[in-house]
Amino acid sequence: MQTNIPASLLNTADGQEANRILRSCVHCGFCNATCPTYQQLGDELDGPRGRIYLIKDMLEGGAVSATTQQHLDRCLSCRSCESTCPSGVEFTHLADIGKAMLEDKVQRPLGQRLLRKLLLNILPYRKRFSSLLNVARIVKPILPTHWRDQLPDKPKQIKAPFPKIQHQRHILLIEGCVQPALAPHIDSATAHVLDQLGISSQRTHIAQCCAAIEHHGHAKDAALNRLRSNIDLWLPYLEQGAEAIISSASACTLQIKEYAYLLRNDADYAEKATRISAACRDISEFIASEDLSRLKSTRRKSVAFHAPCSLQHGQKINGVVEDILLRVGYNLCPVADAHLCCGSAGTYAILEAELSTTLRNNKLTALTKAQPDIIASANIGCLHHLAAGSNHNIRHWIELLAP
Ligand code: SF4
Ligand code: SF4
Repeated sequence: MQTNIPASLLNTADGQEANRILRSCVHCGFCNATCPTYQQLGDELDGPRGRIYLIKDMLEGGAVSATTQQHLDRCLSCRSCESTCPSGVEFTHLADIGKAMLEDKVQRPLGQRLLRKLLLNILPYRKRFSSLLNVARIVKPILPTHWRDQLPDKPKQIKAPFPKIQHQRHILLIEGCVQPALAPHIDSATAHVLDQLGISSQRTHIAQCCAAIEHHGHAKDAALNRLRSNIDLWLPYLEQGAEAIISSASACTLQIKEYAYLLRNDADYAEKATRISAACRDISEFIASEDLSRLKSTRRKSVAFHAPCSLQHGQKINGVVEDILLRVGYNLCPVADAHLCCGSAGTYAILEAELSTTLRNNKLTALTKAQPDIIASANIGCLHHLAAGSNHNIRHWIELLAP
């Protein structure tokens, strides 16, 4: 694709990067076929190719409006288009630049600005988020319907205490911000599975958000500062022999794997960020090469697995969880359109409620078609979003391996 970005912008790091990505697109439109929002809305501007043109036009000095913003807001950042693109276009990196620039050019209505600010000031902070959840549960009956539907009940599963640090092999387990409040049992299940495999899980004395919320909320400085702070916190664990940095939330794992890219121009942190990203593993890819016979039991239940976009399109980890579940004795149910997003996508379920609910209903229909005993997924956002629309038994897959 030919570009004509003004020199003033081309001289910036973002301008150069956007130009590089734009020029890799051959505008073939293959990506539209697997874009969930294009499938739902049928508008070229709600598909990846149309969004690329919108961003290109803006970078070249074209006029933008609230309508431009709406087309970009509707993008889930699911990266399905990246999996399909034959030219390797890094759509999400381009969209991040475009969305952030648009944020400075088009002022949102006051209500939207306040809501976005509130989300940025609550979600990444575990204590604030827990406190807000507790208050919201008390006032649940008077909340608007959509907020009531989104509000999670108290976790039903009991959080087992973490196992003792007793093995020579050890990893650093990243607990994050939202998951410990919504489903604290997932991290303890992860630690117990690893313990059975002879690997201990260390945790940091303070648990911090991976910065995905700030990053996707266009709070670039806050996101980069959090990245640097996390790197300072985590690097000593690698230096003391931790084999890997592990998260059981696939969106957090993807974000940590992106640290190297996001800090590539930071003279002080680029090399450290590369080490952190290189050490980061999704829990599935980490245990896939272990001897799982120690976990084997007489499990015969059927599972429909929803692979989060952050796992299959972001990290390009396909079929690994499914293979692990088969190895430990579960039966897998077929799931149609497995490449499509469930509509969770970070804060998307709150900010784009209607589209998000449609995508969730479609996903639940696909997941329940074969009448599985359990629906499993790999990311707290997807788990919570699916559970808000279903009474089915919905679990993180790692829980299905726990003793
Ligand atoms: S992003 Fe890829 S698939 Fe989509 S139009 Fe460009 S080259 Fe084609
Ligand atoms: S990231 Fe997802 S929603 Fe956004 S354009 Fe690509 S496929 Fe469509």
